[in-house]
Amino acid sequence: MSSLNDYIKFALDIEDQNIIFSDYSNENISGKIYKIYLAELIRSACPFCRSTNLKHNGHYVSNVRFITADASKPVTIRLRKQRVLCNDCLKRSMAQSNLVNKYCHISNVSKLKVRSALTEDRSMTSIAREHNLSVNTVQRVLTSYSAKFYDDFDRLPEHLAFDEFKGVGKKLHFICLVGDTHKVVQILRTRFKPDILRYFYKFTPKARSMVRTVTMDLNCYYPLIARELFPNAQIVIDRFHMVQMLTRSFNIFRVQIMKQFNKRSREYKLLKSPWKLYLMKYGKLNKTTPYYD
Ligand SMILES: [Zn+2]
Repeated sequence: MSSLNDYIKFALDIEDQNIIFSDYSNENISGKIYKIYLAELIRSACPFCRSTNLKHNGHYVSNVRFITADASKPVTIRLRKQRVLCNDCLKRSMAQSNLVNKYCHISNVSKLKVRSALTEDRSMTSIAREHNLSVNTVQRVLTSYSAKFYDDFDRLPEHLAFDEFKGVGKKLHFICLVGDTHKVVQILRTRFKPDILRYFYKFTPKARSMVRTVTMDLNCYYPLIARELFPNAQIVIDRFHMVQMLTRSFNIFRVQIMKQFNKRSREYKLLKSPWKLYLMKYGKLNKTTPYYD
């Protein structure tokens, strides 16, 4: 027969054998109704010596924010983590689960949801609202998925890429990626020169001299920053931005010429409808079956 524990675990899609659900209720917390699930997290063996000869030593209670389909009713798992003392190696430990990291109150599945939402074109505020989290938490999730590697200020990748993106309150943030792997090196709250300089000056001169290329769009001060920070780096203007700019100016020029003609004239029509043809690569043009217009 299925127990309440089995049923809740089925509903919440939690598989951890060490989590045992015992009860559920609605709770009014400062005017908002929370769905509360009570659970105990068991420590069955010592993590250090694998012994099962344990002495129980109370619980650490953690209110874990879980995912919910209905943002108006946040789901919280009140997880009582067992604390144990190992009778064999005499070390203390606390029960742990993949559900949530140690001393964290946001479940890992919520973080994953936030991370996938961050890849969509959405504001952090709307993601925070949907998952009943603060904007700061969403921001922390974003930073935590960025490279931790660069806490080390003695090295930098050979190829860097600078760009910016829209974040909270439509403010532009600065982002620096590893050029070849697209791993995030750092995200800064603003894209202003002093902030970027302050961040990169934390790296040693040796680390900064490791950078060989910096790829960027046509932002006016990025090249100045790159030259100041990375003495051995070449500045590469991103192909995408170059092609975009060329295409745009070519189209503006085409329209200017087009407008010199009468709308009913053959010249006007030839400059208007086959516009894609003018942008086509030479290699892709049809050279075998010519036709005349
Ligand atoms: Zn032990």
